[in-house]
Amino acid sequence: MEKTRTDAFPITMDSLERKETICIFGTGDFGRSLGFKMLQCGYSIVFGSRTPRMSSLLPNGADVLSYSEAAQKSDIIIITVHREHYNFLTELTEVLHGKILVDVSNNRKVNQYPESNAEYLAQLVPGAHVVKAFNTISAWALQSGALDASRQVFVCGNDRKAKQRVMDIVRGLGLTPLDKGSLMAASEIENYPLQLFPMWRFPFYLSAALCIFFFLYCVIRDVIYPYVNKNEDSTFRLAISIPNRVFPITALTLLALVYLPGVIAAILQLYRGTKYRRFPDWLDHWMLCRKQLGLMALGFACLHVLYALVIPIRFYVRWRIRNLTVTQAILKKEDPFSTSSAWLSDSYVALGILGFFLFVLLGITSLPSVSNTVNWREFRFIQSKLGYLTLILCTAHTLVYGGKRFLSPSILRWYLPAAYILALIIPCTVLVIKFILIMPCIDKTLTRIRQGWERNSKHSKSALNAKSDI
Ligand code: NAP
Repeated sequence: MEKTRTDAFPITMDSLERKETICIFGTGDFGRSLGFKMLQCGYSIVFGSRTPRMSSLLPNGADVLSYSEAAQKSDIIIITVHREHYNFLTELTEVLHGKILVDVSNNRKVNQYPESNAEYLAQLVPGAHVVKAFNTISAWALQSGALDASRQVFVCGNDRKAKQRVMDIVRGLGLTPLDKGSLMAASEIENYPLQLFPMWRFPFYLSAALCIFFFLYCVIRDVIYPYVNKNEDSTFRLAISIPNRVFPITALTLLALVYLPGVIAAILQLYRGTKYRRFPDWLDHWMLCRKQLGLMALGFACLHVLYALVIPIRFYVRWRIRNLTVTQAILKKEDPFSTSSAWLSDSYVALGILGFFLFVLLGITSLPSVSNTVNWREFRFIQSKLGYLTLILCTAHTLVYGGKRFLSPSILRWYLPAAYILALIIPCTVLVIKFILIMPCIDKTLTRIRQGWERNSKHSKSALNAKSDI
């Protein structure tokens, strides 16, 4: 923290309502930033340090004492020291007895130590009440008054009163405390800042892989094939035509992949005859990433809409229309109006619009601020029933796009079918399996399994025998 930072926001303590005194162990980056923020919010601060002398880096208005002297000034002590240096605290066990110790520490790696830092601190100072908090807030976020980063502070601890007091301080700083329960939750809280979009990794890599695959596939069919066979230069297609094929195909495939794990899970439950056996880890992880997969799919669908909107102003499209008109004028030829083609074209567009509308609705309802306002049943209705309707509409949009082209010989180039046919494989598979699963005879068994019935359990067999006796 720079000196200018402190000078830029002089703290006028007299104008603030003075709150309790808080002790901060350590005058490093985090200790100074937290002290500065607390002083701003009206707390009195006393720092504990190995070298207790006032420095220009420390916020004005704070005291600096030795660790043991500082500890005596407050019953709440925030330990802004790295775990590796906690040893000095054992010498202070007597003075720290009965005090609230707030552990803010993070590690360099996930699960670096067998126990969490907070639990380790509780073992070192058994007479103190250890509370884990503030570790997900950065020194930078505390310094920047605007707090652009997350305002949530995860708090956990075994002593209810101690935890409550820390949560009050969190609120006093304008932050939002989130009670995560006992100190057992500390490992999880300590792992949060070490994770980099854990739920987005799989959807991101999958989307990238699908995009690259379909892009190369389309390049072979739409650029290399015409060049080899007709010596035609179609490289201009790389800018709009091919992306406008790749994006909707990726969107539809990802949307189907949101619902595929659900049907796989249902098949597994039917096969095992119980819901009490764990799904394989890959299926568990896939199910947890469904929201992110859906949002990625929505992103690609939005790109498709944007690309589709610019089609009329493309040079190639304008040139083709102009050329066709001139050719027909010269030949004095007119195309008869085809009602079936008009129907196909309008249905294709209508299905696309409706599918996209529901897609956006699904995306909006997955936002926490919106999903918090609906109950579990409403959320399931939207995400499951409307989700399947979206999948049906988007699949139908692609099927109608194929329309008469499915029967055309040009559908195969070097034995490769058009890309949109590949895009239909997973959605159609999901919809067919789902259709089978909702048939009354299968749905009834599945519902019973999900309500706790087990095919091979003694209870279910004796219940069955009792039924047959009657
Ligand atoms: P830092 O700048 O290195 O400060 C650590 C402080 O610990 C030192 O300034 C020192 O203060 C004290 N200390 C006590 N015994 C020590 C020893 N044997 N060797 C070295 N220092 C000793 O680290 P920091 O960035 O402030 O982080 C402090 C804690 O906050 C860490 O546990 C970190 O995981 C956590 N944290 C940091 C951030 C962040 O953004 N920086 C965010 C969340 C959590 P004295 O010289 O005054 O004794």
